[in-house]
Amino acid sequence: MDLKQFVAIVPDWPKPGIKFKDITPLMANGDAYKYATDQIVAYARDKEIDLIVGPEARGFIIGCPVAYSLGLGFAPVRKKGKLPRETVDVDYGLEYGTDVLTIHRDAIKPGQRVLITDDLLATGGTIEATIKLVEELGGVVAGIAFLIELTYLDGRSKIGNYDILTLLEY
Ligand code: 5GP
Repeated sequence: MDLKQFVAIVPDWPKPGIKFKDITPLMANGDAYKYATDQIVAYARDKEIDLIVGPEARGFIIGCPVAYSLGLGFAPVRKKGKLPRETVDVDYGLEYGTDVLTIHRDAIKPGQRVLITDDLLATGGTIEATIKLVEELGGVVAGIAFLIELTYLDGRSKIGNYDILTLLEY
């Protein structure tokens, strides 16, 4: 299936010069959403994953159906102030600004093998911060899956030597 037909390119959003990749048409189409989810499930299946972790909000949209399909749990990474119990925090830079990401301190048990999910790899700031949180809690990043990679921003060079799946490239 050609998933690119379900990604809407929105020029100059949220800022002039940005060509935003809107995945809501893909999410709205049951066949496309299932196809994308199944690709990530197939990638994850032989990796002995214990837990899926994804940053808000679109990391949930990708990761939760994968977790359900594999019969695994999902741990959310959220902006500061959103999680109700004790967290570990990390500062990060993203394509448009800086922020703090957090995860519950008890979200990952040391040694657990984690698949990280998000919708899109741009500069890599978000996923670099998510990796830091997982590893700070003793998790092992066994794979990272995205719907979309913006190859011209070279986020991969920031992430380093991890096993990465991307379904679409721009
Ligand atoms: P990065 O931290 O890699 O620069 O940016 C990736 C994060 O920003 C992802 O969590 C993603 O949801 C969001 N993001 C940045 N640009 C886009 C875009 O064009 N489309 C979508 N859907 N998300 C984007």
